[in-house]
Amino acid sequence: MKRLIQRELEQLNDPGPIKVMRSVSGGDINEAYYIRTNLNEYFIKINTHVPSNFFKVEALGLERIEQTYTINVPKVYHYNEPYEEETGILVMEWIEENRQAHSAEMLGQNLANMHKHPAKQFGLDQPTFIGRLTQANSWSGSWVKYYKEDRLQPQIQLAIENSPLPHRRIDKLERLTDQLGQWITHHPKPSLLHGDLWGGNYMVGPKGVPYLIDPSILYGDHAFELAFTELFGGFPPTFYVAYQEVMPLPLEYEDIKPLYQLYYLLVHLNMFGENFGPPVDRILARYVGE
Ligand code: ADP
Repeated sequence: MKRLIQRELEQLNDPGPIKVMRSVSGGDINEAYYIRTNLNEYFIKINTHVPSNFFKVEALGLERIEQTYTINVPKVYHYNEPYEEETGILVMEWIEENRQAHSAEMLGQNLANMHKHPAKQFGLDQPTFIGRLTQANSWSGSWVKYYKEDRLQPQIQLAIENSPLPHRRIDKLERLTDQLGQWITHHPKPSLLHGDLWGGNYMVGPKGVPYLIDPSILYGDHAFELAFTELFGGFPPTFYVAYQEVMPLPLEYEDIKPLYQLYYLLVHLNMFGENFGPPVDRILARYVGE
């Protein structure tokens, strides 16, 4: 492993040697390392079991976010693409954690400014990943159509493949997707979204400045992003106050929030199994009945 990293650093004109190498925990799917040489510090992700464009898509997402000049992301120094015998590797700027009292507020402000970056349509021009699952993506003039066809339906299809017996849950999911437009009525604009923004996908770097990491970008309803931040425990209250000062949420937010959390719960159901079944069923009961 060390030799592989050494070779990668040489491509960045860092001749080494590696002075410090330690593994970093906290990621879902990749091995990660802190590396220090005489010249620099690095954060390196390594994986042999991911699709060949996996790190390229991550780098592209970080780059699109960086280009908005609204919120920090770690610089990507280099990535390769894992073909059959090669290992995928992504070399990035090391962010030294330094959480401060104002960090959550800054995150809210910066994220809202990022969400102001528009596109003509909803979706994206290429597939992305969430965990190990692929999100196909396309462009659509209608958020409801995109959310239904590119997000919910592929996850429902995967749930059917994972458990092929007839299933009340699947029937209800199909009924819910057919009626989505009945609840999502506020005509959102396409905003650049991180797309996988749970508490583990932002960091706080030097001077308490927030950084987004590990994105799965799309152009979508900004309420979709905020709904996911609330799914697993939520972000600090100052984050939400600061966010809404820049970019208020739609009046219907509380009514549609579970519909947006449903996507992420289906992803978790498909990746991690039935522990995520009951919260999916509760949302279905609320919108399409017991
Ligand atoms: P995975 O793709 O496996 O989910 P992440 O990108 O979430 O991996 O990173 C795993 C952990 O490594 C994060 O929770 C964070 O603590 C840390 N981390 C991620 N990026 C950096 C970075 N640029 N500098 C320092 N630590 C990082």
